[in-house]
Amino acid sequence: MENSVFYAIIYVDMKKQRIVVALGGNALGKTAEEQSQIVKKTVRPLVDLVEGGSQVLITHGNGPQVGMINLAFESASEETMPFPECGAMSQGYIGYHLQSALQAEIQRRGLSVPVATVITQVLVDPDDPAFADPTKPIGFFYDAETAKKISAEKDWVMKEDSGRGWRRHVASPLPLEIVELETIKVLAEAGQIVITVGGGGIPVVSRGDEYEGVAAVIDKDFASAKLAETINADLLIILTTVDNIALHYGMPQQEELYDVDTETIKEYIKAGHFAAGSMLPKVMAGLHFVEPDEGRQALITSLANAKSGLAGEGGTRIYCRS
Ligand code: ADP
Ligand code: MG
Repeated sequence: MENSVFYAIIYVDMKKQRIVVALGGNALGKTAEEQSQIVKKTVRPLVDLVEGGSQVLITHGNGPQVGMINLAFESASEETMPFPECGAMSQGYIGYHLQSALQAEIQRRGLSVPVATVITQVLVDPDDPAFADPTKPIGFFYDAETAKKISAEKDWVMKEDSGRGWRRHVASPLPLEIVELETIKVLAEAGQIVITVGGGGIPVVSRGDEYEGVAAVIDKDFASAKLAETINADLLIILTTVDNIALHYGMPQQEELYDVDTETIKEYIKAGHFAAGSMLPKVMAGLHFVEPDEGRQALITSLANAKSGLAGEGGTRIYCRS
């Protein structure tokens, strides 16, 4: 009896909080120079978590970065660089900046924690309905005639983009499985900081014994929720531009949300409070992660408010009411 109490105490003591932190566009930068500066600030609340004894996995968006890489290749050569390859390059480029900023901050605080970026593929369903209606614009703008020609030549889906011209559009399928999951787990369990599913992951489909990259964009908030759920994290933190999610966002009667349970948030989703493509995926990601397990929580707040949000001050917390 005494022994089991003793072990129970040790277990509670040793069980580290496992946290997935998803970084939004404002945590990174538009150019390499800008990004290497911005990430120095971005990593501070992340290292606070590590210093506080948590296991930390970091995910991030890649919209502007993958766009830049894609355009650079389109301008430089006739040969198109396939989109999954562009995604892989963006994971390496952003991972490099995050790694060096994390390493410097860890060193500064006298800690010793290894950091690794895992180039991550995420399995999607080739029959995902998203492939029938590509919604994510990428690459150059073209006039209608050129767009038609390219579409026939390269089999790209070209659509008009908000009155600015024609662009290639790719699908945004749901993440099913993280291919490098075992590697990610081993690193996290060994106490290493892991940077993974960058840009939502490189979308791949299963073809026999192989994975094949597809031109698509997985929502980074959905991929982060998938990661958090599969590694059984305790907390999913989505860091973005706003301190709190709001009802009637941008209107005079705007009302900030603090602690919300999953049933209430579903009502707000139905009422259309969260914009598709920006806040809705974050709220859905939070909901999917939290719902099956009462112990889990999702926190949506700004990078600037990360520290206070974690201390329970400010930020929107989604929880499951028992
Ligand atoms: P990220 O790069 O972090 O994913 P997004 O621009 O995709 O950032 O999403 C955050 C944005 O969502 C906010 O800057 C805000 O303009 C917008 N937004 C839409 N609906 C809401 C809402 N109901 N409450 C708060 N922000 C909202
Ligand atoms: Mg976004």
